[in-house]
Amino acid sequence: MNRPRILIVEDEVKIASVLSDYFESHRFHVSVLYRGDHVLAFMKGQPLDLILLDLMLPGMDGISLCRDIRKTSRVPIIMLTARVEEADILLGLDLGADDYIVKPFSPREVVARAKAVLRRSGEEPLPRTLETGPFSLNTQSREVRIHKVLLKITPNEYGILKALMTAQGRVFHARNWWAWSRATNLKGITGPLTPI
Ligand code: CA
Repeated sequence: MNRPRILIVEDEVKIASVLSDYFESHRFHVSVLYRGDHVLAFMKGQPLDLILLDLMLPGMDGISLCRDIRKTSRVPIIMLTARVEEADILLGLDLGADDYIVKPFSPREVVARAKAVLRRSGEEPLPRTLETGPFSLNTQSREVRIHKVLLKITPNEYGILKALMTAQGRVFHARNWWAWSRATNLKGITGPLTPI
């Protein structure tokens, strides 16, 4: 496997630095951001395998950020919290995070949990980028490009393209589409299709 790409979002510089060193020594490719409001813009240009997300951050808190990330991405997220009670609250909010780690933690524990989350997310059968002719589709950022130019598309359009690029040569009938897309667990189809 290539070096997993991890983004650490943590405003406490010392913690961020210790984690960064530890993940790098475990062959991760590490990026660090110290503010919450820089994360979404950063993600647009960077495919990531995992995000470590602190709860209390300047600019934008971890809860809002996790919700916003989940609107467009299924990248695994591990939330870092300062207290056990916070972790309990987060669990109740059902943010879509993959794991929760309470401070103080040992870097060794964080790396072990990160690897476990990556193993689980590895069950995703699709590669990160699908390419067909001039089209390229990133299954993580959900970006579609034609001749390298980014297309503005709806979730339905993304789902159709992803399905067609996954099963090249297959003909789809509109009436069978909904059942098929559900059976193959396609993300991005949010309702029955209407004729284009
Ligand atoms: Ca913090």
